[in-house]
Amino acid sequence: MTNESIREAAAGLFPGGVNSPVRSYRSVGGDPVPVVRGAGPYVFDADGARYIDYVGGFGPAILGHARPEVTRAIAEAAAEGLTFGALGPREVELAAAIREATGLERLRFLNSGTEATMTAIRIARAATGRDLVVKFDGCYHGHSDGLLVRAGSGVATLGMSDSAGVPQAVAGLTAVLPYNDPAALIRWFDAHPGDTAAVIVESIPANVGILAPDPEFLQVLQAVPRAHGALLIADEIITGFRLARGLSGVLPAADLVTLGKIIGGGLPIGAIGGPAHLLGLLAPEGPVYQAGTFSANPAVMAAGLATLQLLTPGAYQRLEQVARHLENGLRTAIRRAEVPASVVRYGSMLSLFFRPEPPRDYAQAREADTAAFARFHRAMRARGVLIPPSQFETWFVSLAHNEPEIDATVRAAAEALREACPA
Ligand code: PMP
Repeated sequence: MTNESIREAAAGLFPGGVNSPVRSYRSVGGDPVPVVRGAGPYVFDADGARYIDYVGGFGPAILGHARPEVTRAIAEAAAEGLTFGALGPREVELAAAIREATGLERLRFLNSGTEATMTAIRIARAATGRDLVVKFDGCYHGHSDGLLVRAGSGVATLGMSDSAGVPQAVAGLTAVLPYNDPAALIRWFDAHPGDTAAVIVESIPANVGILAPDPEFLQVLQAVPRAHGALLIADEIITGFRLARGLSGVLPAADLVTLGKIIGGGLPIGAIGGPAHLLGLLAPEGPVYQAGTFSANPAVMAAGLATLQLLTPGAYQRLEQVARHLENGLRTAIRRAEVPASVVRYGSMLSLFFRPEPPRDYAQAREADTAAFARFHRAMRARGVLIPPSQFETWFVSLAHNEPEIDATVRAAAEALREACPA
């Protein structure tokens, strides 16, 4: 198959020609790149073109693509049978590794980040006997009904503030507050003391591009909900094992943590972690129901374990070094091209905003020049660099990215920035 034949067949098979919205390239224009394989920092399309990849599978690919230790572990697990609907040894090993790295006392594995946040909220409602949930404008926590209110990721990319098909009665249980606004959070709890089950937040919001949290906001987040008997859910689905071997450390006082992406080594996963008294509310120990045919699937567990084994403290030092090199190169390119753009980076997560200053909240992120981003994306693609196809997604650097790839990326960006913002 060629790029064109894949796209044509997909257009007749899938809504919008894709199986997840941002993959359609709708906001950046041009034809989506069908990927046939990946190797290290590269992906290859069906016509044989090679790209330096910063999509990273939207987060899981921290080792780069097709790392032999991981693919071998998956093959070994697969050879022993794919799914049993039974307890097995690999889930115990992966959970023990996660517990050691995060300090989370109990875990439940599920099949996606969406399931993890959905179930974390169910636990919080059961634990508190309350219904309301607070989320923040532009944070994305997957596509369960109650969390699709003013969400980031594809919802932001497509300019949809909410999703159709979510009953008002469900959406009405989610309050949306501006990010980085401690006063708004305090006002909410003053007005609704005793009604809020949980506040859910991305430890570093990364679904409208990256928003840098203010220290004061983080303090209020960790104090005010607790003072009113509400739980704090830290969504570490992107940041867990991305910024450090374990949790990000941004919200140490969180009651529940959701994980996903990296801990599955490139296969589908989600997880909830927390203290025994909260995780013990899950069936069969407690009254909160949650289940999954494929939960803790042996091949996924094997991929996660092989990945975590390679994520040594030295690996994070190296990621920091390589990503800093990229950040510095992009900053220099922006300065030289004299374009109104900015870069924000945490470890191996990076956003380039077509806006002179990095945004503090979703309202500011929306001011970014998305038409310039679209031109930039196309210019980078033409130069063999694949960044996420939206101003509102985050770039991921992997351990497979080396200086030559970073230098090539910066050279491409220096030209692409001028194309994106002609003088
Ligand atoms: N939470 C965050 C912070 C995410 O970035 C995502 C997905 N990008 C999710 C939850 C949902 O995870 P999944 O796509 O695996 O359902």
